[in-house]
Amino acid sequence: MAGTKFAYVKIFELPDPLLPGTYILVRLDGHGFHRLSQDHDFVKPNDERALQLMDHGARDVMNEFKDIMLAFGESDEYSFLFRKSTALYNRRQAKILTTVVSLFTSSYVFNWPRYFHSLSLKYPPSFDGRIVLYPSAKEVRDYFAWRQADTHINNLYNTTFWALVQQGGQTTTEAHSTLRGTVSKQKHEVLFSRFGINYNDIAERYRKGSVLVREKLTAADASGITERMPVEDDDPEGGAGGTKEVQSEKKNKKPKIHAQVQLYHCDIIEQAFWDARPYLLE
Ligand code: ATP
Ligand code: ATP
Ligand code: MG
Ligand code: MG
Ligand code: MG
Ligand code: MG
Repeated sequence: MAGTKFAYVKIFELPDPLLPGTYILVRLDGHGFHRLSQDHDFVKPNDERALQLMDHGARDVMNEFKDIMLAFGESDEYSFLFRKSTALYNRRQAKILTTVVSLFTSSYVFNWPRYFHSLSLKYPPSFDGRIVLYPSAKEVRDYFAWRQADTHINNLYNTTFWALVQQGGQTTTEAHSTLRGTVSKQKHEVLFSRFGINYNDIAERYRKGSVLVREKLTAADASGITERMPVEDDDPEGGAGGTKEVQSEKKNKKPKIHAQVQLYHCDIIEQAFWDARPYLLE
């Protein structure tokens, strides 16, 4: 193929390397999911099936790309943090971004029936994506704090909004105007005084989002793990990396420490999460 008189067109393809020594952050977000969630009868404010499907997609991405150390998901978005020194695809921007977003999207579609059963997709969903480079650990921590604070703000708003509609009998227009200009404290008050809902009793998944961590675990730690996502252990399709990894570890018989992707709904704004896992930012 090379050497034809046509091959010169290749030089129009420009290199797109990402700056070395920086943290690569990929964020993807569902395209038009406000509508998609309505068209597929998502439970409001939080459809657990949809969130679990998002987590499944993110786990598939982390199983494929071992240089992703941490991921955070809320609503229709997921963020992925690569190891600072990753050499994946020679740090080519388009290659990294398109492969991550496309794998996530295909996993979302592939696994849809597992979470939504007989409720079929009515059209093919898509996700947009971007890469942001961060120069130091501080910006990375602040990035994740920003996303988790966003989860909190949106969830408080949505929980109050849908309580006004579903339990308070307001129209969506009325609920919007009831909430216009209110601060967080007033929303807590509306929830508690009008609907008897204590915001802090709402599931952590909804208040804090999903945190997928590539944990370094000792064998002792690993044996104590009780809360795993089902895809890790009993995926009938035999999901990408997980099973293979376990098999090769058995063969080698020496894994004192191994990495495992764990799902949490924990605080990542406080320093404690990061202090416990310095390797995430190394
Ligand atoms: P864009 O294409 O610009 O991203 P969008 O319609 O996807 O537009 P977003 O700001 O990304 O808008 O918001 C996603 C919307 O999808 C939420 O506002 C919510 O209505 C809906 N949504 C996503 N996940 C869930 C879920 N698990 N449960 C209920 N609704 C959800
Ligand atoms: P990369 O991830 O770098 O793109 P690749 O394995 O996808 O690696 P390509 O150069 O894109 O390599 O080549 C795609 C390969 O897929 C072909 O070489 C061929 O082996 C296979 N392939 C694709 N489409 C077909 C097809 N319709 N019939 C048979 N083989 C196919
Ligand atoms: Mg968007
Ligand atoms: Mg969206
Ligand atoms: Mg979104
Ligand atoms: Mg190819």
